[in-house]
Amino acid sequence: VWDNCLQTIRHSVDPQSYQTWFVPIRPVALNSNELTIQVPHRLFYEFLEEHYIDVLKLSLNQALGTAGRLQYRIKPSRQPEPAGFPHAPKATAGKPAPTPSNPFVIPGMTRPRIESNLNGKYTFDNFIEGDCNSLARNAAKAVADNPANTAFNPLVIHGPVGLGKTHLLKAVGNRIAEKFPNKSVLYVTTDTFTNQLVSSIGNNTTNDLVNWYQNVDVLLVDDIQQLINRKKTQDVFFNLFNVLRQNNKAIVMTCDRPIIELDIEERLRSRFQWGLTADLSAPALETRMAILAAKASANEVSIPPQVMEFICYHIQNNIRQLEGVLNNLVLHRGVNQGREIDLELARQVLKNFVTEINREVTPEVIQRTVAEYYNLDVEKLASATRRRHVVLARQISMFLVKQFTDQSLKAIGRMFGGRDHATVIYSIRTVRDLMETNDDIKKALEELERKIRAGQGNA
Ligand code: ADP
Ligand code: MG
Repeated sequence: VWDNCLQTIRHSVDPQSYQTWFVPIRPVALNSNELTIQVPHRLFYEFLEEHYIDVLKLSLNQALGTAGRLQYRIKPSRQPEPAGFPHAPKATAGKPAPTPSNPFVIPGMTRPRIESNLNGKYTFDNFIEGDCNSLARNAAKAVADNPANTAFNPLVIHGPVGLGKTHLLKAVGNRIAEKFPNKSVLYVTTDTFTNQLVSSIGNNTTNDLVNWYQNVDVLLVDDIQQLINRKKTQDVFFNLFNVLRQNNKAIVMTCDRPIIELDIEERLRSRFQWGLTADLSAPALETRMAILAAKASANEVSIPPQVMEFICYHIQNNIRQLEGVLNNLVLHRGVNQGREIDLELARQVLKNFVTEINREVTPEVIQRTVAEYYNLDVEKLASATRRRHVVLARQISMFLVKQFTDQSLKAIGRMFGGRDHATVIYSIRTVRDLMETNDDIKKALEELERKIRAGQGNA
C-alpha cells in the first residue's frame, strides 16, 4: 500500500523533497484501512503535517479509498526531543541562482579568492556523537550532504562554549569542499565579518564586499552573538541573508545562546528562526570518555582507563577543557622524561582546571547519596551484610569515593567497615566492569554523579 502511495507522491512533489521527506518513511502496519508509517523524528512528522498533508491524503485515498486513514509513529530514539522544536520553513521554489562564471574572482577587491578558512582539522569523522549532540550533528550532516536542499535553511547550532559548535560548522564546510569541489564555501566569524565591513566602509568598497559574499554557495557564520550591539553589521547581514536565502544558498550559523535570547533586530531574529535550530548540550560521562579516548589516540597518547574516568568525572561542561587536560598531561609527561600518565599526574593537572576537585564532595555526601538512591540506611554500607543489593550499593559507593575524593584505598576500606585494600580494589573493578556491560548500572552511576554534584553545595 505504501508503495502505491509513494507512486502518487512521487508525481506530486519535486524529487528533492521526495528524497528528503518521503524516502525515509517506513510503513510499519496496516489494519484494514489504517496505515501506520514510521518517521525518523517529530520534526519530520510536523513538517509532513504542515506541508504535505494534502499529498498524503490524496495518495492514501487512491491506495485505500476515501476511508483510508494514516497513523504516524515516531521512530524510537535515545535522543530526547528538544523543547520548542521550530517548524522547518516552507519549501519555496526559489529561482535558481545565477552561477557566476568564476565565483572566486572579485573585481576591485584586494583579496583575490574566496578562502574557505577551513583547514580540514574538523570533520564529521572526528566528531564523536552522543545524545548531547546528535540532533545538531545530524542536521549539520544533512546540510553538508545536500547543501542544495534548503529545508533546513538557515541551520542554527547553539550551545555554551566548548561543546563543538565551531567543530560542526567547519565539518560542514570541509565535507562540502570535499564532496562538491565546485561549490564555494566560506567560513567566517561574525567578528571577522564586522571587521571586513568596517574596513570596506573606510575605503568605499562595501558593495564589492557584499557582492563577494553573495557569490558564496554555502555561508558558515560562527558566533552570531557577536552581532549584538552592532547595528550596521546587522543591517548588512540582513540584506546578505535575504539574497543568499532567496537564491537557495545554504546558511549555517552558530550562537552561544538560543536565538530567542539573542538581542538583535527583530526582523533578523525572526529570519534566523525560519530554518532549524539545534542545540548542543553538555555530554554525558560516556560521551566525554569516548571523546577523550579519541583525542588521546589521535595524539598517540595512552591513558589508562581509570585515569580517563577520573578526568572525565571532573571535566563535565567543556570539551575544550578536556583537550586542555590532555595537552597538559602530554606536556608533563615530556617534562618528566616519559613518565607514565597515572592518577597522580592527572590529579596535578586537573587542579589547574577545576577548583573544587577533592574538596566539596566528601565521602559522607557520597555515602548518603548512594544510600538514599538505593533506599538503604547509611550504616548498612559499612555493615557486614552480604545481601546483594547492599553489596552493590557498597561497591558503587567505594567506586565513587575513589573517583571524587583523595582518599587512599586503605582509608576507603576503613570507612566501609574496615574492609581490606584488596576488597576495595575488587569492588572498584567490579563497578567499572558493570558500567561497561550493564546499562542500568551505567544510568544509575550517571544519576548518582549528578545527585552528588548537586548535593555538594548543601552538604
Ligand atoms: P565551541 O565552538 O562550541 O566553543 P569548539 O567547536 O571549538 O566549541 O569545540 C571545542 C573543542 O572540543 C574542539 O577542539 C573540538 O574539536 C572538541 N569537540 C567538541 N565536541 C566534540 C565531539 N563531539 N567530538 C570530538 N571533539 C569535540
Ligand atoms: Mg566556537
